[in-house]
Amino acid sequence: MNLNYRNSKINRFNFIEDKDMFTPITVDDFIKSYIENNPGERNNNIKEVLIETVADKKNGAKCDICQQPIWAIGSAIVGWNGCFTCITGEADESEDYEIEDVCFR
Ligand SMILES: [Zn+2]
Repeated sequence: MNLNYRNSKINRFNFIEDKDMFTPITVDDFIKSYIENNPGERNNNIKEVLIETVADKKNGAKCDICQQPIWAIGSAIVGWNGCFTCITGEADESEDYEIEDVCFR
């Protein structure tokens, strides 16, 4: 992780400790991890789509189903604007990542 990540971790310490929140990650770190875990996805445009969904979330994009803020990473993977709960059917995203610039529910 880089220095920006360390600074954001200090600034958001209480935020990160909240069990209902995502774990922040940068686009590049997420893409690296995603490609390592999904070798067949190497040639798709997941990074381009993710950059778009992050921008959409910054602009207030809402879940197509329940109108909560979207989960940028999940929306990029599934191809529609959804929040974590609607995409995964789970309520606790404590083990899941979201891009640090838009790391909120
Ligand atoms: Zn939803």
